[in-house]
Amino acid sequence: MAEESADTTELDAIPTFVAEVVAVQQNAPRMKRITVGGDDLARFVPKGPDQFLYLLLPPPGREELTVGTDFNWTAYREMPEEERPVGAYYTVRHHRPERNEIDLDMVLHDVPSGVDGGHAARWAMRAKPGDPVALWGPRIAYEPSDSVTDIVVFADETGLPAAFCVAETLPEGRRARLVIEVDGPADHLPAPQRDGVQVIWLHRNGAVPGTTSLLEQAARDMAPPDPATTYVYGGAESRAMTSIRRIVRRDWNLPKESVSLVPYWRRTG
Ligand SMILES: Cc1cc2nc3c(=O)[nH]c(=O)nc-3n(C[C@H](O)[C@H](O)[C@H](O)COP(=O)(O)OP(=O)(O)OC[C@H]3O[C@@H](n4cnc5c(N)ncnc54)[C@H](O)[C@@H]3O)c2cc1C
Repeated sequence: MAEESADTTELDAIPTFVAEVVAVQQNAPRMKRITVGGDDLARFVPKGPDQFLYLLLPPPGREELTVGTDFNWTAYREMPEEERPVGAYYTVRHHRPERNEIDLDMVLHDVPSGVDGGHAARWAMRAKPGDPVALWGPRIAYEPSDSVTDIVVFADETGLPAAFCVAETLPEGRRARLVIEVDGPADHLPAPQRDGVQVIWLHRNGAVPGTTSLLEQAARDMAPPDPATTYVYGGAESRAMTSIRRIVRRDWNLPKESVSLVPYWRRTG
């Protein structure tokens, strides 16, 4: 999702909101819930369960935003490099329109190794009420057709917010199986308690995120579901998503439009 270099005509129509951090909570060893809020979010129009926003942060070493509500990727490309905001995509875990607030569950991806991670994860580690942010979006990638009765979701910690949002908003008559890779039991967040929702936790047990084949193996071990009524969604490291796409398209015979496996991040090194 490299909007920095994409053809931006359509993307430029997507709104940008200016907000600030209003609360920070450590909700798992590797995850912080950052609540952002502000009057500008009164304009926010929800799009779907997995809706995501691009979180725009001040450039490295700066505390003030260098963009406003007129932000778009065309303008971004014209900005001097040191003025450009830095950020990443995050899922809207909760939207409270009555308070103009949004929760983002942000993975602190390098905490266990002790290495200071990417800009967004570093920012999340230090975020405090009053910190300014801008949010570009929302967009969606979860679009099952009306004939779908069974949803299968493959996610790691980054896709966990979207997986839970999908399960929590499941319409009657649909079932969802969520297969979620985390480091260990301490990373289990309270699962949605709804009829028809099954959560299967997979544990890395200290392995480096993005290096295991747990999600892929889980897909291989499943009995292929009915391709006519199944929709597969996912958000995790890009290689895991590629492997699972191969399985569900070739072995499960799912048509292209019944598969949305989004590379949420890419392991480097
Ligand atoms: C549609 C969408 C929705 C997303 N929703 C969420 C969400 O709700 N919560 C969330 O936490 N993330 C989410 N992500 C993933 C998030 O955008 C990426 O993890 C992003 O790379 C974080 O940016 P960064 O600046 O911290 O790291 P980057 O600068 O992008 O990367 C720096 C280094 O960190 C590594 N890295 C990046 N992410 C991880 C990770 N998760 N674990 C281990 N190493 C990592 C990279 O390989 C690289 O070496 C979403 C992504 C997409 C596309």
